[in-house]
Amino acid sequence: MKKIIFATSNEGKMKEVRMILKDLTYEVLSLKEAGINADIVEDGETFEENALIKAKEIAKLSGEITLADDSGLEVDYLNKAPGIYSARFMGENTSYDIKNQYIIDQLRDAKESERTARFVCAIACCLPDGRCMTTRATIEGIIGYEQAGNNGFGYDPIFYLPDYGCTSAELSMEQKNEISHRGKALALMKEKLGEWNENINC
Ligand code: IMP
Repeated sequence: MKKIIFATSNEGKMKEVRMILKDLTYEVLSLKEAGINADIVEDGETFEENALIKAKEIAKLSGEITLADDSGLEVDYLNKAPGIYSARFMGENTSYDIKNQYIIDQLRDAKESERTARFVCAIACCLPDGRCMTTRATIEGIIGYEQAGNNGFGYDPIFYLPDYGCTSAELSMEQKNEISHRGKALALMKEKLGEWNENINC
């Protein structure tokens, strides 16, 4: 079976990715499973640039088709922060309990209509020879007044989905994958890979 590497060391993400790509005719490996230990500087200015930096580098290192994502939370009231800095926001080692509470506190005076936010995900797929393609998807929500839910990861406990009446941390993984930024961007990538598969040889 052909291999495909998903360039992340985030186990939460990897779980979601495996579930979405499970019917693909590729064996999906994490960086750890592929035995790759690379320290890649994500110094792009957009989600797409960062995803491409990671996918290109790992594809070159591994000689395998590589997928990478870059994702984050844009809070409109905070001028779209933390955005591409979502993982590094307030320091990589700061707990999400603290980061999430900080965002709630920053929105203390925000009106309901000013609490809009979205998760954004860009996915890049690169071949070892340097050919690449990207997809992007978003999910819209609002910043909740308190943290709720234990599923998911990161900012899920403050990302309230009015249509569902709960946060994304209160959805099951299956529900989240169907509607999430990463789920939708990966589904688009899966389609593109299917089309590509007939034309690439590696
Ligand atoms: P990345 O690994 O560089 O893409 O960083 C993404 C960061 O954005 C994560 O560490 C989280 O802080 C946040 N993030 C992205 N997607 C999600 C999600 O589905 N739920 C919660 N937080 C997310």
